[in-house]
Amino acid sequence: KHFTLRGHGGPRLRGRGTRTVHAVDDVGFRIDGGRTLAVIGESGCGKSTVAKLLLGLLSPTSGTITVTGERRIQLVAQNPWSALNRRKTIGHALDQPLRIHRRDLDARGRAARIRQLLELTSLPAEFLDRYPADVSGGELQRVTIARALAAEPRVLVLDEPTASLDVSVKAGLVNLLCDLRDDLGLTYLLITHEIDVARLLADEVLVMYLGHVVESGDADEVFDRPAHPYTRSLLDSVPVPDPRRRRTLLPLTGDVPSAVDPPSGCRFRTRCPHAVEKCAGARPDAVDIAPGHTAACHLTA
Ligand code: SF4
Ligand code: MG
Repeated sequence: KHFTLRGHGGPRLRGRGTRTVHAVDDVGFRIDGGRTLAVIGESGCGKSTVAKLLLGLLSPTSGTITVTGERRIQLVAQNPWSALNRRKTIGHALDQPLRIHRRDLDARGRAARIRQLLELTSLPAEFLDRYPADVSGGELQRVTIARALAAEPRVLVLDEPTASLDVSVKAGLVNLLCDLRDDLGLTYLLITHEIDVARLLADEVLVMYLGHVVESGDADEVFDRPAHPYTRSLLDSVPVPDPRRRRTLLPLTGDVPSAVDPPSGCRFRTRCPHAVEKCAGARPDAVDIAPGHTAACHLTA
């Protein structure tokens, strides 16, 4: 089983001269069942827009979004505090989706399933009666995962699942996500700007810059042999513990330009250390670097 998304669109951002822009443009991908695709890039590169288009939370401004395959998709949102009602108990938060998605269960069946969901996410049964404010950020993120699982999804969209967490808590959450994927056969679309988290979870990687896919492929291949200057800089911006793996460091400088008025040609050219005249002209096509590994840069073409 797999699903694919191809299309372009995004929120209508009104900029100078009220132009409509595409936050993402012709992004296509495929995820095989039980695998994890990580969409990586800095904030403002269109990663969350990809997730929202996929979930049908945004409609395309032009063109079409085609999603084929699995439709039982649930979102685990970036901020667990905003995802849960502070006035309702965690038990209530888990009961709600069961009432919608598990109409086969009566009150007793739902109570049993809620206990299972807490167990699956390594949370104590006492959490049933607690309120979101009574538990830690890491625990609350587990609650949002349990709640997503209540809908019996096959695919989870994880939007920056570890962004609000401490380093020590992060590792536990990544382990939990690994276990759930293996035990339940889930497929993940992981949206993250945290390279270390992507390295731990991803089978495949899609690197996005200003709404364009600049590199994609097998995770080991992309992380160990990044071909696009943006990917290289992105990886160089993360401290690498093993000095043998360090390349000539070219960490990113400056901000992502506005999507309202993106640079012509290659959108990365205003920050690229290798930019040449040609880069301002045509948008580089994605070319194969290795089987299943593509990059869109004039220098690798
Ligand atoms: Fe850099 Fe040019 Fe390649 Fe873009 S196409 S990444 S500007 S070298
Ligand atoms: Mg985002």
